[in-house]
Amino acid sequence: MSQKKDYYQVLGVSRSASDKEIADAYRKLALKYHPDRNPGDEEAVAKFKEAAEAFEVLSNPEKRAAYDRYGHAGLSGNYQAHQFRDINEIFSAFGDIFGDGIFGEIFGGMGGRNRPRRGEDILCEISLDLQEAAEGVSKTVRFRRHEICGTCHGSGAKPGTNPETCQYCGGRGRIMQSAGFFSLQTTCPACGGRGVTIAHPCPQCHGKGAVMETVSREVNIPPGVDSSTRLRLQGEGELSPNGGARGDCYVLLQVREHPLFKRDGQNLICRVPITYTQAALGADIEVPTLNGPENLQIPPGTQSEEVFVLRGKGMPNMRSRRKGDLLVQVFIEVPKSLSPRHEKLLRELAEIENADVMPKRKDFFGMIKELFSKRG
Ligand code: ZN
Repeated sequence: MSQKKDYYQVLGVSRSASDKEIADAYRKLALKYHPDRNPGDEEAVAKFKEAAEAFEVLSNPEKRAAYDRYGHAGLSGNYQAHQFRDINEIFSAFGDIFGDGIFGEIFGGMGGRNRPRRGEDILCEISLDLQEAAEGVSKTVRFRRHEICGTCHGSGAKPGTNPETCQYCGGRGRIMQSAGFFSLQTTCPACGGRGVTIAHPCPQCHGKGAVMETVSREVNIPPGVDSSTRLRLQGEGELSPNGGARGDCYVLLQVREHPLFKRDGQNLICRVPITYTQAALGADIEVPTLNGPENLQIPPGTQSEEVFVLRGKGMPNMRSRRKGDLLVQVFIEVPKSLSPRHEKLLRELAEIENADVMPKRKDFFGMIKELFSKRG
């Protein structure tokens, strides 16, 4: 067995390198020593294999730990470093790790799989009122997406004809392109990567194999949703471009404003007008809730802007279903016009108030006096 190089040195990273640093370093080396860029260079192939072996060990947490502790001697049994026999084995082992992009592109064409990609996600919107948001509701949503063409069943060819293997790329969907002294794989310009050409396009979809359609879906909206809520309709999005799963459809909810209730998380706030006499003498008033009117006792001496809490009359929590509160804020409404009797009584009241300064007012004037005396 020949003398083995240190894996960290091979990748040119420190012993404390993160997983990402290791992957980035390997990616750089793999591109540098890629056989397509170094035709006939045996040394490049050796370096390419060396880097793959180092990456194989250092990207595996258990193997890396064993290597850190005991060096190459630690890599035995289950922790054995993989000896790559040929380049294709490297492509099939690591082609998937890097996903799409230039690396995936190279690996994809060199014996790796052309992985099916998920279709795109679709966004749509449903608006509902506060009552519906509180109780939950079932609504129909309509959105546009591609459906497999019913005339050609997705082949894109006119019924009775068949798509033909692309002459330009030989059906692979990719071609080798020389750029300077190395070559790269690119998507075939003749067939757009499909690997087939269509001499007689389907009249329905014009050869695309798919047509735009409007679909409608029933959406069950649970109680407690808000305008920030997004519901996912799994697998209801766009078609995959190459036989993979459909994307998802996301439904954004828009809860319309209510004329009486303002929402604050799970609580509702409602402002209710009362008269001066109701505030001073106390009263039984009727207040609105989402389930209809309810009685609320206003105690004598209630102040304007005072808040009364009706427990459990707010919005439900989406998960626990526990309900928030309804906060009733009363405010004193001053009458805009007065009957003669009304006015007579109020004038009498004014005389009493002028003669007898109320305790609260005394406090108030006392505070102002204090404030000015401090300044002066
Ligand atoms: Zn068609």
